[in-house]
Formats: sequence, structure tokens, C-alpha cells
Amino acid sequence: MSGGAPKARSFSKAAHEALQDTQLRRNLARATSTIREKRLRATEELPDWQGLREAGRAIKAHTLAHLDHYLMRLEQNVVARGGRVHWARDAAEANAIVQELVLATGAREVIKVKSITTDEIGLNDALSAVGVHAIETDLAELIVQLAHEPSSHILVPAIHKNRAEIRALFLDAMGLAPSELSDEPAALAAAARRFLRGKFLEARVGISGANFAVAETGAVCVVESEGNGRMCTTLPETLITVMGIEKVVPDWRAMEVFLQLLPRSSTAERMNPYTSFWSGVRPGDGPQAFHLVLLDNGRSDVLAQPERRQTLHCIRCSACLNVCPVYARVGGHAYGSHYPGPIGAILSPQLFDTPEADTLPFASTLCGACYDVCPVKIDIPSVLLDLRLRSVERRRVRRGRLAALETEDGAMRLAAAVFAEPRRYEWAQRWARVVQTPFVRDGYVERLPGYLAGWTRTRDVPAVPARTFREWWRARERSGSSEP
Ligand code: SF4
Repeated sequence: MSGGAPKARSFSKAAHEALQDTQLRRNLARATSTIREKRLRATEELPDWQGLREAGRAIKAHTLAHLDHYLMRLEQNVVARGGRVHWARDAAEANAIVQELVLATGAREVIKVKSITTDEIGLNDALSAVGVHAIETDLAELIVQLAHEPSSHILVPAIHKNRAEIRALFLDAMGLAPSELSDEPAALAAAARRFLRGKFLEARVGISGANFAVAETGAVCVVESEGNGRMCTTLPETLITVMGIEKVVPDWRAMEVFLQLLPRSSTAERMNPYTSFWSGVRPGDGPQAFHLVLLDNGRSDVLAQPERRQTLHCIRCSACLNVCPVYARVGGHAYGSHYPGPIGAILSPQLFDTPEADTLPFASTLCGACYDVCPVKIDIPSVLLDLRLRSVERRRVRRGRLAALETEDGAMRLAAAVFAEPRRYEWAQRWARVVQTPFVRDGYVERLPGYLAGWTRTRDVPAVPARTFREWWRARERSGSSEP
């Protein structure tokens, strides 16, 4: 199992626990509704927003169709500018490459930024195993690192925490007295800045992720809001960037599109406060050694699936998380993966082939809000359905012919048979009218017994009426009346 693989429990179990936490639900509701409204205003400002989305989708589809070409071009240009490129088939290979590079510098501490891909491969644990301590420098990442928790949002990893919780965490981790720190955002940010400043100045190795890499010139890009990413990518002597192979874009014209789509969709800004590009190394200016680790880790397999390859279009803006009614109630930890929310529900089962990840495509109401907001038009509901089908088929293969007799599968087959034949359907209605009698109150079934109890646990089911529409219609036809 790779570093970011879903923890060993199903989504429904984890979600059930998360729903008991009312403080978590309050924190999530406040944060996601604020980001949602801001994003809407930021996108409505642009008259050609839909055109930009289509351009983003088309560029991603083209790049993925020629991925080998653009990756080779990227490698040539990074090397031509003094960088080194390393290819990693999976998490173990990527971790081994980074371990070796860090140990060769003699550093025992590294600073990190924009590192969801390194979370995916469990890099911090791998470094710790060889005696190297990794310090997250993105404020929200630092908060979850100090709390010894995984992140719960792609963009705002500490979205599940409020100001008071963060203050308590800082007091403890930074050894401050209560009088030295308020829960004002500015005070919390200043405390984090003091904590990190020394780390930036001392670090000899920086490790980053990447939002994009431009094949045309070998330039790698990180966008962020705090400036910590720029410190990380410019101050250390050695810079190691771990990047998923799908992040490559063909040229600067493509960046023109994505640098409009990403900030408006993620932080609802017209442009990111810090957009850093670097290519190779230059004597006397910034890191003197640059390593780009290109990570596959299952992406080639995703690419090979025509219906699902659009998953790799994702630019990690997190807009789909903020509109998802499921995410807004259970938060990111319930997904058990560093990729939560709708994108996590389609990406994690494809990257991490575990039974727990296989439950994630069911973590959706299929309302389609994620598709509507996605800046690169990923049809998440269609991919979810495709993955649900895969999950059901796998279960059927695992359990053999008996699967046909199992409750869910059997119920669906029975329903299909009943709905396919009008006489069967009417017979089922007459039967249900008799069987439902002890459970009906004021025209509704409030509680069903046994396996069916799940249907009525959170809602009432309308009872089958004393006379159905078909019965009424036939009676009307027989009497020749236009009245019921
Ligand atoms: S799937 Fe679309 S909306 Fe969700 S994070 Fe990726 S790019 Fe953003």
C-alpha cells in the first residue's frame, strides 16, 4: 500500500463517525460556503469563463493523448538547463530516489511545500526512516503536521480546524504561554512565520510539488498564497521537485489558460499572490542542484482507461470539494486518502487498489455539482458510475456465482425484472399494499423492518396509495367519464 492509500476502513464507517462531530460540521459548513460564494463571484466576472473551461479541457486531453512526447520534451529541456530528471514507477522508487538525493547532501532536515504528491507516496515517513526530518512550510500543512493529522482538504489542509483549535495547537507545539498568542489570524500567522523563518534560512534541501511543468522550456511552476513556496524553492542549495507525470503542459500558451482557471477556481482570486517558475540551475542564483522526480504511481494505468483518463485532467483546484454535499458534511478524513472529496472519490480508487478505496465511488449523491464547477470539465459523475460498476463486478468475481443471490445485487435484479413488465409491476403494487399495512401512518411508511430499515432511517417513504394511477385510469375508461 502506498503512502496515501485509504486507511483500512470503508468510507461509510468513517463517514458515520465524522457525522457525530458537530464542531467539525460547523467548521466545514462555514469554510466551504464562504469559499463557494467567493468562487462564484470570481468566475462570473469573466465573460468567457465557459470558453476558458473548454480550452483547459482540450489542452489537458491533447497533452494526455501525447503524454510520452511532452514528457520527453520536458526532460530534454530540464537537462539542457542544468537540472536532472528521475523517473519513478511507483511510490517506493520515488521515495528511494529522494532519500538518496537528500542523504548525499548530508542534510538531516528538509523544508517542504506544495506537497500533496509527496503525501501520496508517504515521503515524510520514508525520510524519517533514514533519519531526515521534513518540515512542512505551507501554513495549513504545518498545522496538520503539528497536530499529527493527515490533511483534510486539497487546498486548505486544516479546513476542519477553527482558530481556537489552531491557537491551542501552536501554544503546545511552539512552547508559548497563553498570554503570548491570541486566536486572531494575524497573530497565528506571525507565530508560524517566526517558527518557520529560521528553518528557511538553515535548510540546505527544499522539496516541492509542482502545479505545472512547461515542456517547451523545462520550466516548473508552483502557485501559492503565502510566499513560503518561493522561499522553499529559492533558498536551499538543493531543490527536489516531485511531480505527477500528468502535470506537464505543452507550452506557455497553455499556462495562459491555466493561470486564469486555477486561482479563480481555488482561492477565488484573479491571480495567485505568488506564481513561481524555475528551470534548471544558474550559478550564484537560487539552488545549485535541481532534481525533478517524475512520478507515475498508477497514472499510466488510469491513462489506459478511455472513460476514466479524464481524471488526470485535474489541476487540484479543490472547487469540487467545496460544492460537494457529502464532503461538506463528513470532511476529508472520512475519505482516508490525501485526495478527498469528489476528485478523491475517483482518483484514489484508481491509484490505490485496495478494498477501502473501492468504497469511495459510492461517497457521492451524483448531484453533478462537481462537474458544473470543475474548471477542466471533468465529468466526475460518469467516472464515479464507471468505478461503481468496476467495484460491483470485482465483488461479483470475488464471491462467484453466489453474488447473484446477495441482497443488493439480488434486489437490483428483482427491481429490474419488476419495472420491465407492466403486469409484474402492478402485481408488486398490489402485494406491497397488503404487506405495508402494519407500517403505514398518515400515508407514509416511517419504519421498515430488517434489511429494508436503511431506506427509512433518515426519511419516510410514501405508502402505495389505496388506488394507483393505473387503477384510476382504467376505472375512468370503463365508466367513460372524464371525472375521477
Ligand atoms: S476535479 Fe476539477 S474541480 Fe475537482 S480539484 Fe480537480 S480540477 Fe478542481
